Amino acid sequence: MDTLDVVIVGAGFGGIGAAIQLKRLGYEKIVILDREADLGGTWHVNSYPGLAVDIPATTYSYWFEPNPHWSRLFPPGAELQRYADNVANKYDVHRYMRFNSTVECARWDEDERLWQVTLADGESLKTRFLITATGLLSQPKAPDIPGLESFAGKVIYTMAWDHSHDLSGHRVGIIGTGATAVQLIPELAAKAADLTVYQRTATHVIPKIDMKIPVWLQWIFAQVPLVQRFFRLMTDALFELALATALHHKGLRRLDIAMADLAKINRFIAIRDKELRRKLTPDYDFGCKRPTWSSNYYPTLTKPHVHLETNSIQRIEPDGIVTADGHKTVIDTLVLATGFDLWDANFPAIEVIGRKGRNLGKWWRENTFQAYQGVSIPYFPNYIAMCGPYHFSGFSYFNSIEYQMRHIDRLFGELRRTGATEFEVTEEANALFKERVGKLLEKSLFTLGECTNSRSYYFNPDGEATLLRPTSTRNAIREGSRFPLSDYRFR
Ligand code: NAP
Repeated sequence: MDTLDVVIVGAGFGGIGAAIQLKRLGYEKIVILDREADLGGTWHVNSYPGLAVDIPATTYSYWFEPNPHWSRLFPPGAELQRYADNVANKYDVHRYMRFNSTVECARWDEDERLWQVTLADGESLKTRFLITATGLLSQPKAPDIPGLESFAGKVIYTMAWDHSHDLSGHRVGIIGTGATAVQLIPELAAKAADLTVYQRTATHVIPKIDMKIPVWLQWIFAQVPLVQRFFRLMTDALFELALATALHHKGLRRLDIAMADLAKINRFIAIRDKELRRKLTPDYDFGCKRPTWSSNYYPTLTKPHVHLETNSIQRIEPDGIVTADGHKTVIDTLVLATGFDLWDANFPAIEVIGRKGRNLGKWWRENTFQAYQGVSIPYFPNYIAMCGPYHFSGFSYFNSIEYQMRHIDRLFGELRRTGATEFEVTEEANALFKERVGKLLEKSLFTLGECTNSRSYYFNPDGEATLLRPTSTRNAIREGSRFPLSDYRFR
């Protein structure tokens, strides 16, 4: 097979964005590989009841492709999937996609100066450039609870929802109370005869101010795009303020406390039972963990057939769950809302071997997680990691995609301009970036706040907050377009 220009791993919003950018730059021999049967990444995989985006869609979308037809401020997951499809078609990148193609390994070939990409079925592709856009929340985490395999009833993972399984009249147990569970629990409660919620760590839940976007407003958005831009400005500003609160903990601590108070008021209004409120009160600062929005989560937990269990789970038996106090709850269906394995199964999601045989996953684990501007790593020429350490900017993944597309534009534009065929970030630039983000993190909630009990995936297994880029979104976007080209070596 011919040598490709670019292999992109992942056909979610990151992979689509990268393909659009590279196509604009004139690359044509692009292949996007995805292990799933369709595009959309997390929005294709997740379809659990209640799924909706938890960032206003005005912000959670490509800047260059506003969608005037969102039905709500927080639209359901299916609309995001449709949006992915429409964008891929409009920018004509659908044709690059190959589904049901699991990538196992990518290796830099020093002699040919190309990437060799190996798929699970043994096929091998040669490409000049490699981009991984494999997402963060893509590898499910099964809880390591004894007896899980022995459960004789139905087990459903939230990211592989079985819509044919009717929960009506069932006794249901759900493990986990993260963002997914907060959306799902009210839906489960509406169907199940009895629902037990197993909570290990309480979550700050603030009211969700959602609204339908009426057809006339959608019409105005379509006819006068500036109006939608104005809405976006407002939702962007709100989330930027939340980000600033996390990054400047000393100066904005009061605001952080105010957010925790908002969650407290949310509990107080919904729940009369003091003991239940106590159990639902987190013992870590707001923002240490991804905060959650819901106006029906707390009220659901007050329903007579819904029970919150905070004793730790000791084991699972064929017909139920036994907690540490010896109490057994008999259930028919077990829902696992136990989240994703970020730090072991990701970073990177496939094996990536760079120059001199450097194994990226191993190197990150031995030398701490790091990536220049959240995208490139020394010893890995012609490689962009869209889901690397420090890549996640702000609350919306689209912020990250936005600055990464700009980074790709500047970097690949320079290749075209100079006729070079290779880029590699210098060790000095990478070290300086790492030092800079390290210093910025010292002022953040993640260092100064009380996050010990949060069990947050923002922190790597060594307790370092190496996921979020500790700068404003504006800074990330500006640097995406203006980073010094001397930070790279071109060849
Ligand atoms: P998560 O936030 O990681 O939550 C997983 C939950 O499972 C936690 O409550 C965790 O408890 C619990 N858990 C895990 N292992 C357990 C065990 N062995 N025993 C007991 N409990 C266990 O995962 P998520 O809820 O799927 O959300 C992940 C992220 O996805 C969110 O932060 C958000 O960014 C994104 N998300 C987005 C949307 C949206 O936009 N629509 C919707 C849902 C999710 P601990 O906290 O104690 O570990």
